[in-house]
Parts: sequence; structure tokens; C-alpha cells
Amino acid sequence: MDNLWCVAPHLLWFRPLVSSLSMHTLLTAAQLSEGIDRLARDVRQAYGDCPLTVVGVLTGSVVVVSDLIRRLDGPVRLSMVWASSYRGTATRAGRLDLRLDLLPDLTGQQVLLVDDIFDSGRTMDAILADLRGRGAASVRSLVLLRKHGRAEVSIQPDFVGFDIPDLFVVGYGLDYDGAWRHLPHVAVLDADDISAGSAAAVDVSG
Ligand code: 5GP
Ligand code: MG
Repeated sequence: MDNLWCVAPHLLWFRPLVSSLSMHTLLTAAQLSEGIDRLARDVRQAYGDCPLTVVGVLTGSVVVVSDLIRRLDGPVRLSMVWASSYRGTATRAGRLDLRLDLLPDLTGQQVLLVDDIFDSGRTMDAILADLRGRGAASVRSLVLLRKHGRAEVSIQPDFVGFDIPDLFVVGYGLDYDGAWRHLPHVAVLDADDISAGSAAAVDVSG
């Protein structure tokens, strides 16, 4: 009986495996790994051996944060904030909700804000503005991906893993309607597939 409760929802979730929809790989796991190596080197070059407080943005940054901090030699503290501007199957941002109440005292800290992707930039802009009011010694920002031609704010991240075209991507922490964060690569979800239906209907091969 227990097994039924466990399996039934998964059958619904993976309805996709019988679907004809598809996505294609934009960045392989190997490319992402090289990118994180490069980011970690750049960050350590910028900060030297200073203790660093990494602030990740839930939920999309969990994979990049966990890979990045394990490559950062020297003292690192980790904290998370939460931001959301997407609802369900939307692929363009709506109202921005922030929860910053998990933050520790940042007074005198070297803070590095880490997010998955810089699209309009509104999320980073808003979080950075808050962090800058908390007495940190410095506040910088890092993103894994930056979308081309989408910025609506004047700031840019200090560290960027990859510049990508204006496409909706999933994987390596990034979701569509809650799914696909677990993919080890970054894939493009085709516009036709997005308009055709839910995340539960995508073939992840390639
Ligand atoms: P921004 O505030 O820069 O417009 O959007 C940042 C947030 O929107 C990201 O942290 C991410 O959660 C979401 N986002 C923006 N573009 C994409 C995308 O192509 N794919 C996914 N899955 N999320 C995105
Ligand atoms: Mg996000």
C-alpha cells in the first residue's frame, strides 16, 4: 500500500516519457563543470583568502551554489534567500516575491550573491539593494547564466558563467513549472513545447 502512494504521483509526473515533445542541450555537464571551475578561480582571485559569505537565491541556485562552494578554497559561509517571479507554466517574470528573513548578520562580511540566471535583472537588483543596507564590507554578485538583450536594470553581475541567447532554459537548478531542476546539463525548452503544455510532457533526451 505504501508503495502505491509512492509510485502513483510519479506516474503522473513522468507522463512525459510517452510524449513527442523535446528539448535540446545548450550546455553540457562538462561545459558547466569547466564554467564553475573558472568562476571559482575568478572569485578567489577577486577576494584572495578573505572569508566569504555566499548568499544563494532559492530555488534555482542550489546546484550552482553547491558546486561553486566546494571549489572555493578558504573560509566560506553559506546562507540562502528566496525569490520568485515565475508562476507555474509562465516563462516571463511576473510580480517579484522575496524572503530574506533567513539571512544572518552580514555586518563587515564580504558577501557574494549567487543566482542561476540573470534575465531582466530585477531579482538581483532587488536583493542586492537589500543586502547593501545590511552593513556588509562588500557585496558582489555572480550568476551562472546571463540572457542576451533582456536586462531591464542598470546593474550587471560581477561574475558571469555563460552568456546565452534569449531562450527559456531548464536544468542544473532551473525549472519549468517545478520540473527539470535535476538535469545535469542546461537545455532549451522550445517555444512550441512551452505553449503546447506542461513540463510533464517533455522528452529530455539530447
Ligand atoms: P530576472 O529577475 O533576472 O528577470 O529573473 C531571474 C529569475 O527568473 C531567475 O532566478 C530564474 O528563477 C528565473 N528565470 C529567468 N529566465 C529563466 C529561464 O530561462 N529559465 C528558467 N527556468 N528560469 C528563468
Ligand atoms: Mg530564480
